[in-house]
Amino acid sequence: MAILRERPSPIVRKSLRRRRLAPRLLDSDSETSPPRKLPTPRSPRPVERDEYLEVSKPREEQNFTDYYEGLDEFEPLPVLVKESRADDEYEEYRLKRKRQDREILTRLKRPSFRKMPDQHTEEPPVARSMIQFGYNGNKTVQKPTFWRPTDRGDGLITDGLTLDQKVRSLYDMDEQDASYLEHVNARLAKDGKHISLELFEVIMTYFEMEWCFIEKLLPPKIKNEHQNEEQAQLHAQLYGSDDGIGAAPEEDQCCAVCNRNECDNSNAIVFCDGCDIAVHQECYGVAFIPEGPWLCRKCLIARNQKNRCLFCPSVTGAFKQTDNGGWGHVICTLWINELYFANPIYMEPIEGIGNIPRSRWKLTCYICRQKVGACIQCSKPSCSVAYHVTCARRSDFYMEMKQGVQTAIHDKSTVVSYCDRHSPKEWDFYHDTKQGIQKTKLYYSTGKNRDSGNKIVISKAEKKELKDTKNHWFKWKTVRGAPILPLVVIKKLDKMLQSYRIPQDINYLYEFAKYWTLKREATGGPLIRRPDTANLGVLTNEEIDERLQALDLIKQDIARLAEISSLSLKKAKLELKSTKELLDQMEIYYLPMQYLIKELLDQFLKHDRNNAIISTTFEDSNVPSIRRIVEKVDNYEYQLVSELVDDLTAVDNHVIQNFDPHSAIYRHIRNYWRRLRSQTIDRAQKAERALLKGNRKLFTGVQAEGLDFQVKG
Ligand SMILES: [Zn+2]
Ligand SMILES: [Zn+2]
Ligand SMILES: [Zn+2]
Ligand SMILES: [Zn+2]
Ligand SMILES: [Zn+2]
Repeated sequence: MAILRERPSPIVRKSLRRRRLAPRLLDSDSETSPPRKLPTPRSPRPVERDEYLEVSKPREEQNFTDYYEGLDEFEPLPVLVKESRADDEYEEYRLKRKRQDREILTRLKRPSFRKMPDQHTEEPPVARSMIQFGYNGNKTVQKPTFWRPTDRGDGLITDGLTLDQKVRSLYDMDEQDASYLEHVNARLAKDGKHISLELFEVIMTYFEMEWCFIEKLLPPKIKNEHQNEEQAQLHAQLYGSDDGIGAAPEEDQCCAVCNRNECDNSNAIVFCDGCDIAVHQECYGVAFIPEGPWLCRKCLIARNQKNRCLFCPSVTGAFKQTDNGGWGHVICTLWINELYFANPIYMEPIEGIGNIPRSRWKLTCYICRQKVGACIQCSKPSCSVAYHVTCARRSDFYMEMKQGVQTAIHDKSTVVSYCDRHSPKEWDFYHDTKQGIQKTKLYYSTGKNRDSGNKIVISKAEKKELKDTKNHWFKWKTVRGAPILPLVVIKKLDKMLQSYRIPQDINYLYEFAKYWTLKREATGGPLIRRPDTANLGVLTNEEIDERLQALDLIKQDIARLAEISSLSLKKAKLELKSTKELLDQMEIYYLPMQYLIKELLDQFLKHDRNNAIISTTFEDSNVPSIRRIVEKVDNYEYQLVSELVDDLTAVDNHVIQNFDPHSAIYRHIRNYWRRLRSQTIDRAQKAERALLKGNRKLFTGVQAEGLDFQVKG
């Protein structure tokens, strides 16, 4: 049951359609395949007896006497030593040989040689710049086998190369490539340029990878027939639709004639079970709806025949027969002024073909550029552009039967169509006719949808435009199906090689691109193993979001970790400080004298830049070196402040008497120490005296510059 008198809900409609298909499925199921013949088991071949013997025959051993008769294995052999030969006899022999040799040499021609041109038996070492493409820089390439000592990692291959992306060479040259490259290099040599084998391989690899990426962007190949709803919609999105299929969801599919989907009891929409088109009863002349499946006229009479409409290049849509046995679209008949239906109720056959003026047959459709059938013209009187009815429908032009189909059949003045420039403003608001034209052009550019006889007619102006912009958008492949690289790929490669400072010539890159196409044509397929992109760049948006969230968490964790680290560092520093202070306090308390001594030394060594003072040594053995003084302080060797004062005074006097006034220690003592010493030493000694008297309170009260200590008694 395929005919729908009323407009049921989409679900019901779909289920009806599905039920309609069920018997077909059963048919294919009922086909039982013939039982397979099982191979008869073979009996093992019997082994011939002779054969068996030959195999198992043991190795024959023979005695040496069979070969060397009379050889006695026990007979002693004579041993010859050098001295046994008489010396003069040997000398005579030697001279004789020498004479003979000289005679031979005088008779021989003198050897001569000349340098032969370089035979290229070994190629020059791989250029350094090639290492980034996976070549080993130290090894040489041996010509005969094109052996390449390369560790091939495929990890770097992705599609859609960016300029900074590394390309690893995956292409292997053959003899043909080598002789081609030799030929190219012979021409390049005039300009002092050279393209290495490795660079050539990289270029070919690059072309392959770019093409691999581009191929994915090409529109998918979809067959017109036997397509499911999803495919039909995709097809319509890419190429438009002139019969309503795919332009809308199946339950809303429009009539192939009037392009509307409203219907009622008296004028139902009928679906053809052969070609899936939908038509109104009134739009196709379906007076009675049969109970079983319904087929359009073309599916009923000429199914599986690719009959083109006489008036346009389209093979899809609602067809009717003409009075001369050809086929024509219902819409072509309605929109072409001279045509009419002989029987207006059943809307067939199409008549009036002879009335169409010759000039109309000669027009070239400005949408599909094909000079076939009869074109119509824009309804705006001043506009003369010509187009096919179905091309206009496919391009979503404004096409209207102002008073419905039934009036249009009798009165062609109610039928209008406007080109993309003259369609009503309201129409343009919802319909993109410019894009529609592009879709139609694309549809007919594939060749599959075009009759082989139909050439695409391109005006001179358009040809020039195409040439200027190099926009050969309809020519992706050669006649034999080999891909042609777009210019942008070559320019990108040129840029990339420039960024690597690899000398080349863009004109030769064009040549290589052509060569690549020819090579592909000869090979009939890709020239390298397909780069594996299965696990690259195919994350869904959800997966990307998930990863971003995980990364955010890690980022937060790291920030927290950094904070904790800086806090614990702070804590450790504070602890160190407090420990040092505690040590100082303990020293003041338990070893107050040592504290005074240390403070005094610190005062002396203040402003000692670069350890110039501390490293000074003295020739006089009575004067202790500064380092020795420091050592004594550290080892608690001084018992009293005055002992240190004695040593410092000795140093002081010695330096002033014996040292160069420009030396570091001289200046230190004269400019710094002598100004402070009396005051500092006084204070230290005062504190010492107090300490010796056991008056800790006094000691506590002493406040001096650099001697700032407090001891709690
Ligand atoms: Zn209709
Ligand atoms: Zn049909
Ligand atoms: Zn047509
Ligand atoms: Zn056309
Ligand atoms: Zn127009």
